[in-house]
Amino acid sequence: MKITAITPFVAWIGFRNQMLVKVEADNGQTGWGESGLSSREQAVAGTVIHFREFLIGRDPRRMGALWQEMYRGQYFEGGRVLAAAISAIDIALHDLVAKSLGVPVYELLGGAHRDRVECFACIPNNAPPADYRALAKKLVDAEWNSVRTGFAAAAGGNYTDPADTTYDVRTAGVTTSEGLLAVRDAMGPSTMIGCDVHHRLSVAEAATWLQRLPAGTLDYVEEPIRDESPEAYEALRRLTDVPFAIGEEFASKWAFKPYIERNILQFARVDICNVGGFTEASKVAAMAEANYIDLLLHNPLGPICTAASVHLAAATPNFSYLESRTSPTESLPTVDDDVFPTRLYLADNAYPLPTAPGLGIEVNEDVLQASPPKLWEPPRLWRSDGSYTNW
Ligand SMILES: [Mg+2]
Repeated sequence: MKITAITPFVAWIGFRNQMLVKVEADNGQTGWGESGLSSREQAVAGTVIHFREFLIGRDPRRMGALWQEMYRGQYFEGGRVLAAAISAIDIALHDLVAKSLGVPVYELLGGAHRDRVECFACIPNNAPPADYRALAKKLVDAEWNSVRTGFAAAAGGNYTDPADTTYDVRTAGVTTSEGLLAVRDAMGPSTMIGCDVHHRLSVAEAATWLQRLPAGTLDYVEEPIRDESPEAYEALRRLTDVPFAIGEEFASKWAFKPYIERNILQFARVDICNVGGFTEASKVAAMAEANYIDLLLHNPLGPICTAASVHLAAATPNFSYLESRTSPTESLPTVDDDVFPTRLYLADNAYPLPTAPGLGIEVNEDVLQASPPKLWEPPRLWRSDGSYTNW
């Protein structure tokens, strides 16, 4: 078997771009993958064009060897742009090879550990914390038992004027805490509740916010600070006992290594479209398993990312929940049935184990090509003194 073509597609679907890759082989099979580096899709598409120079004509079944060549091929290894392109190609190779063998992708990964892949719901970032109780009640009524909220994203709790981008961390912390207490009260002690801080805080800000939250409110805090410094996370660990969920931006097993080996993270937020596809995500899963850490999979993108995540979760013993951006509290317009006429569907709060060969996705290329990309920047937030802060 030989690879005959590799094509990147950047398309505006819903509210942002999706960066997809199609791989074709001389047996007539195709595979699809997706990259996770949102808002820098053109850089990833450029990398895919570099990679295809040496991938065309190669055997798609040698995914692990091709991963090594993509990661190390230009001598200066790795990085988030390259890893995002590798992820999309590696997912597409697994889809293609599994279809060629007539098996679902998880059967290439050791087979299924579970019959269904359970999901956590999200309370949208732009929902005022005053609405959290009513949103949590919707989840309870629909029997969802795991939810992740955001650290109040709106400027200083101002949800009425999106043009106001001044961010008051301490006001946001107070409103977030009030919302979280309402969620815990509405959902009860047996549910899993997390909060994504989106890298917005310093060590001191994260510590004092968490210290003021009553014990038992949160099952995990996601990305309270940025990830460049494991030592900063170790400092924060000494100041709070709330488990950390970290890793959606990590672009290799080596990025996870200090966090896992030094027991800094308690949930691995692996993003299969950022970390390096199935090849790398499986290795991170094994590293996490060795430290009794579960995967809490990041999945904010399109249906190809979701399908790849479902197959990874199916084949991973140490798995907790998959992020779902479709639930009683939220429905992001990242799924377009015209673009993806065949995809995986939620049944209540879980994806049933897929049985079709490959990922279980079909893409309508005509519709995809009729959805050109837009150059898009994420929102910006500024502190009251005019300095920049993470969105
Ligand atoms: Mg996150």
